[in-house]
Amino acid sequence: MALTAPLVVEFPFTRSLGPVQSAFLTGLRERTVLGVRTADGRVLVPPAEYDPGTAEELRDLVEVGSTGTVTTWSWEPDPRPKRPLRTPFAWVLVRLDGADTALLHALDAPGPEAVHTGMRVRIRWAAERTGAITDIACFEPYGGEERRAHVTPHSGQFADPVTVLTTPARLDYTYTPGRAQSRHLDALARHRITGERCPACRKVYVPPRGVCPTCGVATAEEVDVGPRGTVTTFCVVNIKARHLDIDVPYVYAHIALDGADLALHGRIAGIPCEQVRMGLRVEPVWTGDGRHPDHYRPTGEPDAAYDTYKGLL
Ligand SMILES: [Zn+2]
Repeated sequence: MALTAPLVVEFPFTRSLGPVQSAFLTGLRERTVLGVRTADGRVLVPPAEYDPGTAEELRDLVEVGSTGTVTTWSWEPDPRPKRPLRTPFAWVLVRLDGADTALLHALDAPGPEAVHTGMRVRIRWAAERTGAITDIACFEPYGGEERRAHVTPHSGQFADPVTVLTTPARLDYTYTPGRAQSRHLDALARHRITGERCPACRKVYVPPRGVCPTCGVATAEEVDVGPRGTVTTFCVVNIKARHLDIDVPYVYAHIALDGADLALHGRIAGIPCEQVRMGLRVEPVWTGDGRHPDHYRPTGEPDAAYDTYKGLL
């Protein structure tokens, strides 16, 4: 049976803003939308620091309207966490009055039938504003006409400008390893390490992906490998990972299991870091009810000769 697992990748992302983005985001805090004018007179909102056509530096800030026109849209029926709105809404590209390009944001609308390209909208400002794109809570339908002339020069100067933006990036997804890797994971749970042999080049892949990456043909012949193997290369890890309950320093190694034509990676323990070496013979150690070996430890055998694993580096 094919396995699935929920996975989350999450990391904070911090960037310094520079003069244009700083003015844009600080402006939002003050309920002012700034764009930038290009040499040929177009107004870009959101502003770019460099002309996307000529790469020329852009610093000519202008204020545009807080009303605009939807240029295209897409309905989100089931908003994910941290979306601008909790209720179903439309993602819209809005060309604000005075701008020549469109800004991506959310439109609060009762349903997709209430949204159309060309509809007029206006900004709904967030009650608490910090100098971020979320200072625009969303857009909302608006009956007023377009005001093309609504562009006024702006210095971009504000008291207490926002200069750094921190964005938590998070990706939630479901990983499906597929049939070949599911077979491998099932065997691992029984403390067996299996690979699959390519019918063409005869290489044994561990973990198997169901296909030989060199020949492009399906692999189906299951082969037991290891459990012993050889350290082909390694590194000493000195930075502690937030969610990993392992003290630093520790060694992470590429290990060529006996019978495998591809090295997998695992942690080496049971030996001081400075004694780990290429050619060290190791074996897996399972702890608790873990599916994967917790780590690999030295077997005490003599080191493998370089020639026996040099093709697996
Ligand atoms: Zn092959």
